[in-house]
Amino acid sequence: MSRAGRRITCITGGVGGAKLVLGLQQVLPPGNITAIVNTGDDFRHLGFWVSPDIDTLLYTLSGKSNVAQGWGREGESWAFMAALRELGGEDWFQLGDGDLALHVLRSLALASGKTLSAVTGGFARRWGIGVTVLPMSDDSIATVVNTEEGELPFQRYFVERRCEPRVSAIRFDGASRASPAPGVVEAIRGADMVLIAPSNPFLSVDPILAIPAIRTALEGRSAPVVAVSPLVGGRAVKGPTAKLMEELGISVHNDSIAAHYEGLVDGLLIDSGDGCNDEAIRIARTSTLMNSMADKARVARAAMQLAEELAT
Ligand code: GDP
Repeated sequence: MSRAGRRITCITGGVGGAKLVLGLQQVLPPGNITAIVNTGDDFRHLGFWVSPDIDTLLYTLSGKSNVAQGWGREGESWAFMAALRELGGEDWFQLGDGDLALHVLRSLALASGKTLSAVTGGFARRWGIGVTVLPMSDDSIATVVNTEEGELPFQRYFVERRCEPRVSAIRFDGASRASPAPGVVEAIRGADMVLIAPSNPFLSVDPILAIPAIRTALEGRSAPVVAVSPLVGGRAVKGPTAKLMEELGISVHNDSIAAHYEGLVDGLLIDSGDGCNDEAIRIARTSTLMNSMADKARVARAAMQLAEELAT
């Protein structure tokens, strides 16, 4: 089969994962790509349902994301936040005016009985996104972080406390009882290859793997599964991955990433300057820092190439 005809499913969190999906879109028809997205970060704020990782994917794939800021929309206005602050409302989580429109419509649709996957699909169609963007589940799953300050819901830890408290454990409330969203298991079973994006393995990928039917589908895979390491030059590109690994007593090295995904992946794509001593999986290297569009396409091609080698 030609490379262009391949069906690829990518398991992803927010920013790090969206970069890889954008890269895949440079090398494949978007109709051949499915993204299965973490919803453990989702939360209800000011009465609205916010789905940060799904929104990062939607904004990135529709060209609306604020790349410099690393979250939210480009050219955003902030009248709502200013008015909220003036009235003494909680302002630790920033909601731009355009962003708010998405949360209002999502909340209304969910309240009327629509599923998160239907709502997400509706936004994607509206913005002409060809990639199939699927939440990992339509059931509610909440990432809770056990810290030296006690248990914190994910966004309180990540945004309000800027990942400062030391973490001793992470759990995903609701995951063990959750079903995958419609299309998720089919996208894993029907893919020619599955990629795990360089998203935070502990906070962004683990909630997805904590859904039993998703883990089972990956364990029983017939197509190769390749992960892209979030470590570049032995460090995380952004966010709390390395800090978290140290706090959990895990060495910040690709061997740990390989061990973390043991039994679920056949290959690991790592940065050219890094090593990995795991002999159970196949290792490939490229420069995995994805700044430009060319970088993103290169990393996507290298991950696909490794999967193709594993398939033969
Ligand atoms: P979040 O949900 O928005 O925090 O983002 P993700 O979980 O998807 O991604 C965070 C992870 O992506 C971090 O561990 C980063 O090291 C990794 N990451 C971000 N940009 C890049 C990149 O350009 N290359 C690689 N290899 N990893 C990246």
